[in-house]
Amino acid sequence: MLALRKTGAGFGLVPGEAPEPAPPGPGEVTVAVEAAGICGSDVHAYEWTEGYGFMVPHLPLTMGHEFAGRVLRAGPGAGLAPDTRVTVIPWVACGGCDACRRGEPRGCTRKATIGLTRDGGFAARLTVPAANCLVLPAAVDTELGALTEPLGVACEAVLVGEVGLGDTVLVLGPGTIGQGLALMARAAGAARVIVAGRADAPRFDVLRALGFADLVDVAEAPLAGQVLRLTGGAPVDVVLEATGHPASINDGLAVLRRGGVIVAAGIHAAPLTLPLTEFVRMRHQLRASHGTSRASWDKVLALLAREPEAFRPMITHRLPLSRGLEGFELARQRAASKVMLIP
Ligand SMILES: [Zn+2]
Ligand SMILES: [Zn+2]
Repeated sequence: MLALRKTGAGFGLVPGEAPEPAPPGPGEVTVAVEAAGICGSDVHAYEWTEGYGFMVPHLPLTMGHEFAGRVLRAGPGAGLAPDTRVTVIPWVACGGCDACRRGEPRGCTRKATIGLTRDGGFAARLTVPAANCLVLPAAVDTELGALTEPLGVACEAVLVGEVGLGDTVLVLGPGTIGQGLALMARAAGAARVIVAGRADAPRFDVLRALGFADLVDVAEAPLAGQVLRLTGGAPVDVVLEATGHPASINDGLAVLRRGGVIVAAGIHAAPLTLPLTEFVRMRHQLRASHGTSRASWDKVLALLAREPEAFRPMITHRLPLSRGLEGFELARQRAASKVMLIP
């Protein structure tokens, strides 16, 4: 079966034959993948940038952690009938560590991630725990279902940021997570969502299609002046960061109201220099959000079911899995927003 595999520490991915997945054991299902999105973290692992060494002991493996498809075969006690359409939560808790036994699987110390430390969705088929499968509502097709993971990450960051009714929210970064942050902030009741990017015309086009008109290009002028011009001089209530550039945290803090929350959600390759006195006097709250929770996935699926077409513009390219490397190059050059690979 065709799969897109990371075979060693270094640049690239190898499209090629992969072994068929093991038949589903008790509580497992084999899923036929219908759509799998290329994530920013997949691109990092493809380029082999800093911070992906954790994958090495698990190589070779099939990548892909944002996917949806149909149940092909179900093991004993899986509780999912063949042909059920599902999206799959990529984090597999061990069930045995202290955190798992406390009922806090997010804190699992031996967590595996489908598509990063065990075989993922850039393949025709894979076997996963049935407990990781969420049934897609009728209105949500599998390509939208494959957006559940990145939207869940965004939903969680909006919760961490305590975005509330009537808030003005600044999103830093116009990529998929930034788009998700804007959509989830709007769903949480934000009155105004401003999104900043740097020379990112194709992604600004997606944001316009998603209904966001307040776009700021920091390649043209510094962030603060442009944001304050849009708000009539008022600072923003919440800043949500998805750039991965530490300097963007300081840029965001410069327009954040006293006591306001800034959420770092990007993966940063360098440390942050923070002028602490100003930070303390402003009582700014710097928080982190990473991953997502079951509750956020459920919320995202409900939003997708209510207004599926409102999310569709996030998907800019659809390619067969056999052209997966082309998809990675599109994502790498930021010419695309979400690229879906169709096995
Ligand atoms: Zn992802
Ligand atoms: Zn555990």
